[in-house]
Order: sequence, then structure tokens, then C-alpha cells
Amino acid sequence: MLNFIIGSCIASFCSCLAERLLINENLFTRSHCATCHHQLAWYNLIPIISYCLQNGLCSYCQTKIPKHLILVEIFGGLSLMLFAHQMMLLWLLFSFIFLSVQDYLTQTINIWLAWLTCLISLLQLNYHPQTAWLFWSLSTFCLSSLLFLFIKQQWLGSGDFPIILTLWFSLSLKDFSLCLMIASCCAILVLFFFKLKVIPLIPFLTLGYWLVNILPQVINPQ
Ligand SMILES: [Zn+2]
Repeated sequence: MLNFIIGSCIASFCSCLAERLLINENLFTRSHCATCHHQLAWYNLIPIISYCLQNGLCSYCQTKIPKHLILVEIFGGLSLMLFAHQMMLLWLLFSFIFLSVQDYLTQTINIWLAWLTCLISLLQLNYHPQTAWLFWSLSTFCLSSLLFLFIKQQWLGSGDFPIILTLWFSLSLKDFSLCLMIASCCAILVLFFFKLKVIPLIPFLTLGYWLVNILPQVINPQ
């Protein structure tokens, strides 16, 4: 339970930081309502609980608090609860949460963080057997070329490139395919139901990544 609380706090912090970096707002000012700019008291800042107690409204101006905030907090809490001992996985998940918030809000992201995440995910590659390196390098090259082509055709945003590459570095071939399949199916469903023209892909990739990591625990609980 403690992990859930800490996870939701980290996610809430990531989300706040992501928004502030997007609009170049001072990172060190106190939290305030985006509509009425009233400074928030400590009891307005408790992840999930404040949202529920305030019925999803700002307690000063009664404007609706964006729903993605509570989703991000629940998602972050569950992530730390389920993957408490997997540091690399947690780092990737919280970076993805950060980038998802940015992608969701403006369809732009801090590209340096996306590439940093990608670079760090390369660190965990050492478990690949040496003999597989040639295959791995070639397939990475093919995947990169394919992504590059998709971006040129504007089927993908350029920010999705480092994220998909990160998934490729961090997942097995099977999980990678499964993750892309889950992400695209969910994205297509949302596109269809909400009749949208553009859709941020990173939140769906994050969901896919999360689910492929949870599935083994659901199927073979220890
Ligand atoms: Zn307000």
C-alpha cells in the first residue's frame, strides 16, 4: 500500500513537471489551479484522495480538474506497487508517464527526455547472447528505417520514434509485437469511438508496455 501511495505521488509530480516544462513555467513555484491560479493547500495536493473529496472540481473556482490527472496517479501507484523491485522498468514507466502527459496535452514532447530514455534502455541490453548481436543490429536497423519512413509519410509523429525504439530495446520480440498490437488496437478503438482525427500514440504505447509486463504476473502468479 505504501508503494501505491509513493507511486501515485511520483506520477503526480511527473505530470506536473511535464505540464510546466511544456509551457516553460517556473518549476519551483507552488502548485496552483490552472484556471483561477489560486495556490493549492496541502490538502488539495493528496493524490487521488483530494480529487475524490473535491468531486473532481477545483475547491476555489469549481472548474473541473482534468481527468488525466487522476488516471496518471492511479497508474503510477499501481506501477510502483506491482514492479517495486524492477528499477529499469519503473524508470521507463515513469518517463513514459511524463511523455504521455505531454503528448496527450499538446502532441509535442520534450524530445531530449525521449532520447535519454531510449539511451538508458540500451543499458539493459547486456543479457542478449553475443551470437544474437548481428541479428539484433540488423533488425534494429530495419525497424529504424521503417519508423523513419512512417514519420516521413506522417503516419507517425517524430516523438514516437525514440519511444518505439525504447520498447524494442527493452522487450523481447514477442512482447514488443504484443505491445505494438495492444497500443494500435486501443488507439484505433479510441479514434473510432471519439471520431478523432489525430491521436497521441505515446499514452497507448505506455499502456501496451504496462500490460505486457503485467500479463506474466497475471498468468503465473508467484
Ligand atoms: Zn481554480
